[in-house]
Amino acid sequence: MQKPIFLARPLITMALVGALAACGGTDDDSLFVDADSSTDSGADSGNTGNTGTDSTADACDNPATTLPAIFLEFNASPNVTAVLSSDGCTVTVEANGKPNHTSSYWDSGNESGLYVEPEDADLFDQQRSPGDIEDYINLFQLTVPVNPELADSSSATPLGAIGIATSGAPIFNDSEGNGDVSLGVIQGFDRNGAHTGPQTYHYHLEPKAITYDDDSLVGIMSDGFFIYGRRCYSSADYPTDLDASNGHEGITQFTDPANEDGEYHYHVSAEQYLNGDYYLIFPGDFQGTPNGVN
Ligand SMILES: [Zn+2]
Ligand SMILES: [Zn+2]
Repeated sequence: MQKPIFLARPLITMALVGALAACGGTDDDSLFVDADSSTDSGADSGNTGNTGTDSTADACDNPATTLPAIFLEFNASPNVTAVLSSDGCTVTVEANGKPNHTSSYWDSGNESGLYVEPEDADLFDQQRSPGDIEDYINLFQLTVPVNPELADSSSATPLGAIGIATSGAPIFNDSEGNGDVSLGVIQGFDRNGAHTGPQTYHYHLEPKAITYDDDSLVGIMSDGFFIYGRRCYSSADYPTDLDASNGHEGITQFTDPANEDGEYHYHVSAEQYLNGDYYLIFPGDFQGTPNGVN
């Protein structure tokens, strides 16, 4: 399928700044770490992956020679492009912020063919956010290490995009403005726990078009760790060994068979939110080092 060509960087940057300002977001530029800072793990003392003969040994431990297969799940969406860096140390994921699935937030004229009626049209009309998906022009770019590592301490998520789903739309945390996502806000969501505003369509809850009480890959968080549905591939059940960020180390459907322990990954929260059939997508902190979703 033809990929969209991303030429609109200045627009996007402006849109992002607007988004952060509009949701009462942070002024903390330090959240937007330069992507290059994620490639310096070769300086770590635990530099076990190098053979000493590899000319790229200084760039990172265990560089990839081809794009890891898990990123093909993103590239399956016409709205996402994931590319491995020439040194094999990082992957850059670019997405246009639009989902490749149905929503009541597509224009009801249905030129996209993806508009669906809301479950409760009257309630949705009252509670929906302004703007259709078509109204927003975005480019989200995230560069992560091929082999992300857990940080010494966790870090709080900012408002705005904190990850990119396989669909092409960004993942937000459990806040709306400066408050928790409320029932009134949820009543304005589409069937995928998402709405528009301030500058993009985004998910707060389990996106049912991607995962519904299963172990499907949902997306990648800005610290480079992947997020899956409520269930884990390793047990086909809800994991019982999760940390405060709904993360754990374990085998997934994408784990290299040579890797017996699996790798760290997150899950959509399996805890009912507000006593409803609502599951927050990422209410916790980052356990790795966040990179900017710019
Ligand atoms: Zn929101
Ligand atoms: Zn798991």
